[in-house]
Amino acid sequence: MFGGMFGGGGGGRRGGPQRGQDLQVRVKLTLEEIAEGVSKKIKIRRLEPCRTCDGAGGKGRRTCATCGGMGQVKQVSQSLFGQMINVVSCPKCEGTGHTFEEACRTCQGSGLERQEVTISVQIPAGVAEGNYLTLRGEGNKGPRKGPAGDIVVLIEEQEHDLFHRDGQNLYAEARVPYTTATLGGSIRIPTLDGDVDLKVPAGTQSEKVFALRGKGMPGLHGRGRGDLFVKLQVRVPDKLTGKQKELLEQLRECESGTNCEKTFFEKVKEIFT
Ligand SMILES: [Zn+2]
Ligand SMILES: [Zn+2]
Repeated sequence: MFGGMFGGGGGGRRGGPQRGQDLQVRVKLTLEEIAEGVSKKIKIRRLEPCRTCDGAGGKGRRTCATCGGMGQVKQVSQSLFGQMINVVSCPKCEGTGHTFEEACRTCQGSGLERQEVTISVQIPAGVAEGNYLTLRGEGNKGPRKGPAGDIVVLIEEQEHDLFHRDGQNLYAEARVPYTTATLGGSIRIPTLDGDVDLKVPAGTQSEKVFALRGKGMPGLHGRGRGDLFVKLQVRVPDKLTGKQKELLEQLRECESGTNCEKTFFEKVKEIFT
């Protein structure tokens, strides 16, 4: 997916400065954080100039005798097709082109050592799983005082307890008492901006989906907001009090066409909600 982005600095080694490697870090965000945009502190271990030798690599620097300072040597080998000449990194100076009278013990002459640093990264609202941000020049420092690589911050999205995200839209389920579904009313629905009241019309069936416009996720770069789709599940009580049972028995009679009071449904609502 990121082919070619990483492993920077892999070009020819000539003993001169090299660009440092890119680093990759994953940041896990909640939907709430993504909806608002968030500043995150990330800890990362990256190559920094060695503190012992101040990035020099050692004392008494001299040109490598093996490669003459080129950082590369030719290797001759025999193959079926005749003599082959390969150019490889100098094994004596490891491609740096120089050696030290006394190499730094901390960094073994590389001039770099791993240090933990904390970087803060501003993540804009509306990002999604798989998006990435590039922090230029925040990666490993380059060998021989070369420029630093980048940090690539990969965005991961935490699964939310209530909402399922698809692009800018959110999907949720909510339970509604069957009395409210039958008689109409309203229920509290959680959204990323806090709870809202959802009007439930009388005669609402289970699985009915309601759209709350603009309660979804923001677009990247402030482009509009998606919607929240709420699928209602009508809930039937699994335990009844004596009074509730009595009223439901009356309701059954009522449905069969006899003995029906006008205020019956209102009574039911009082008892069940
Ligand atoms: Zn050192
Ligand atoms: Zn050498």
